[in-house]
Amino acid sequence: MSAAFPLPPNATIGLVGGGQLGRMSALAAARLGYRCHILTREADSPAAQVAAGVTLSDYADPASLRAFAEAVDVISFEFENVSAEGLELLAAIRPVRPGPAVLRISQDRVAEKTFLNGAGLNGAGIATAPWEAVATLDELRDAAGRIGLPAVLKTTRYGYDGKGQARLRGPADLAPAFAALSPKPLILEGFVDFACEISAICARGADGVAVCFDPMENRHRDGILDLTVAPARIPEATAAAARAIALRIAAALDLVGVLAVEMFVGRDGALLANEIAPRPHNSGHWTIDACPASQFELHIRAVAGLPLPPAIRHADAAMQNLVGPEGLARWPAILATPGLIPHLYGKAEARPGRKMGHATRLFPRGSLPGEFGIAAALGPAAAPAGAGFAEDADGSAR
Ligand code: AMP
Repeated sequence: MSAAFPLPPNATIGLVGGGQLGRMSALAAARLGYRCHILTREADSPAAQVAAGVTLSDYADPASLRAFAEAVDVISFEFENVSAEGLELLAAIRPVRPGPAVLRISQDRVAEKTFLNGAGLNGAGIATAPWEAVATLDELRDAAGRIGLPAVLKTTRYGYDGKGQARLRGPADLAPAFAALSPKPLILEGFVDFACEISAICARGADGVAVCFDPMENRHRDGILDLTVAPARIPEATAAAARAIALRIAAALDLVGVLAVEMFVGRDGALLANEIAPRPHNSGHWTIDACPASQFELHIRAVAGLPLPPAIRHADAAMQNLVGPEGLARWPAILATPGLIPHLYGKAEARPGRKMGHATRLFPRGSLPGEFGIAAALGPAAAPAGAGFAEDADGSAR
C-alpha cells in the first residue's frame, strides 16, 4: 500500500505495542510533528498515555487490526509477536516498517540464528554460539553431546528478559529443563563464557542509508538488563567490528527502522551475535539524553522517510534500569539528586521484574569513569549490592 514519504507533519504513525518503547517512540514522534496511534491490549498503557489515539484490542483480531491500519499512515512496532496472518493483514492496508519478513525472523530464535549464520543471498554470515533446534528429549541429549555442557536451553518464541530459558550445568539438568520449557521445539545453545555483553544499535532508511551508534556495554541481573554503559569499554577495533555486524544485518534484512544487535564479546575479543531486535532497544535509552538524535528519533525518522542524522553522542552515559518495586522505591531519591536524568513509564503496578523507568547519568565525552566511579555517579539510582553484575535467577554469580 502506498503512503506519501516522507510523511508530512501531522501524519499518524501506527505503533503496535503499548509499552515503554512505544511511549518513548511516540514522544520522539511528537517532537517531529507526528501523531502516534497505538495498538495494544493493555488499558492505560505507557504508550497510549502519550499518544493521540489508541485501538484497544488483541493483536490477532482481524477487525481491530483493520481498523487500526486504516486509522494510520504507516505502521511500525515496539512489540514483535504479531502472528504472520496479522502482519499480512496490516501490510495489505498500509506500509509496514520494518516489513513482515524481518519480524518473522526476529520472532523465532531458530529462524534468527539460521539467518545470522547463513552465507547465502539473504543470510548475514555472522558468528553465533553453536546451537541446535531440539523437539524431543532424545534430540536434546544428542545435541548436548555435540555442543557440550554447560549450555543454555531456550524457547524459540516469546522469550524475553531471560524468561523461557534454563542453564544446563550437568546431564541431570536436561530432563527437568526440557519438561519445564514450552512451547517446543526448543533451541540449545553452547554456553558462552563472555568477557562482556554489548549491543550495537543502527538505523536504516528505505534508501539504504544507515547510521550506527557506538556499541554499549550491558549488565544483566536475573536475566533483565540492569545497567548500560556507553560507550562499551572495548578496543576500537572490536567496536568497529560490532558496528559493521549491525549494519551488515540491517542491510541483509533490507530493514527500514532501528535494529539492535546483542552480542557477546569473548575473552579472546571475538564477537558472537546473540539476538536481534528490529526496534528501539532498552540498551539504547541513554541516547535520549546523550545524543542529538536518539534511537527513538532515528526509528521514527526511518519509518517516516525523513533523512537520518549521524548516530553521534555529545556525552558518555550510564543508564540504570528501575525494575520492579525495588526499582520504583529509588525514584524519590533519584528525583532529589542533581545530575540524574529521570524517566518513568507510567505503569500503574510495580510487579517484580517489570521495567518501571530508568535513570541516566551523563559524563563529558571521553571521561567515563571506572566501575566505582560509575556506581558513585549513579548514587541512589544504582542497584544495591553487586550493582550491575549479571547473576542467575537463583542468585549465583555468573
Ligand atoms: P537472551 O534472552 O537470549 O537475550 O538471553 C538473556 C541473557 O542470558 C543474555 O543477555 C545473557 O546474559 C544470557 N545468555 C543467553 N544466552 C547465553 C549463552 N548462550 N551463553 C551465555 N549466556 C547467555
